[in-house]
Amino acid sequence: MNKVIVIGGGAAGMMAALAAADGGSKVCLYEKNEKLGKKIYITGKGRCNVTNASDIEDVFKNIVSNPKFMYSALYTLTNDATKDMFENDFKVPLKIERGNRVFPVSDKSSDVIAGLTGALKRKGVDVHLNTEVKEIITENEMVKGVKLYDGTIENAHRVIVATGGFS
Ligand SMILES: Cc1cc2nc3c(=O)[nH]c(=O)nc-3n(C[C@H](O)[C@H](O)[C@H](O)COP(=O)(O)OP(=O)(O)OC[C@H]3O[C@@H](n4cnc5c(N)ncnc54)[C@H](O)[C@@H]3O)c2cc1C
Repeated sequence: MNKVIVIGGGAAGMMAALAAADGGSKVCLYEKNEKLGKKIYITGKGRCNVTNASDIEDVFKNIVSNPKFMYSALYTLTNDATKDMFENDFKVPLKIERGNRVFPVSDKSSDVIAGLTGALKRKGVDVHLNTEVKEIITENEMVKGVKLYDGTIENAHRVIVATGGFS
């Protein structure tokens, strides 16, 4: 079975892990923090602005610089598809507010994290918390896996780096 390692358990890493699991891979996710999605807690002032429900062409018009950069991502997973995914797959009821901004009905970003972590569990993603990846192992210019800070080596067919940026 194809094995995928995801480094980083933020919004991007969790979504990547779910997509890889949907594609039939065995997925291991490594997160250095003690819990997943820590940054999501502070998003949208603690409510998490999940997406925007405007017509997708209006969404592009409101991207301040280089909207073309977002074409591929936003047409692959549109704002409408994101809403459907959160409500139906992740069981997070959503509401639409001023400016078509979409939030969880509960007004709690923690519910968004719970929705994502619940989906990871249901899809069998192997989550390792408190586990920092030290380096990516390559052989003949091919990715072979990762090395953890404790020296453990984990092999994989693919490695997805989703280690985020500075807040
Ligand atoms: C104040 C604020 C409000 C925001 N509000 C919104 C909002 O309402 N709606 C919205 O869509 N976006 C919002 N954003 C943006 C959003 O938070 C980020 O775009 C998103 O969280 C980035 O996710 P990420 O997975 O790329 O990165 P991160 O959330 O940074 O995740 C990266 C993860 O990788 C882990 N990691 C790093 N290195 C390693 C390693 N070597 N080994 C293992 N793990 C590692 C980190 O611990 C971290 O958990 C907001 C951002 C801020 C700062």
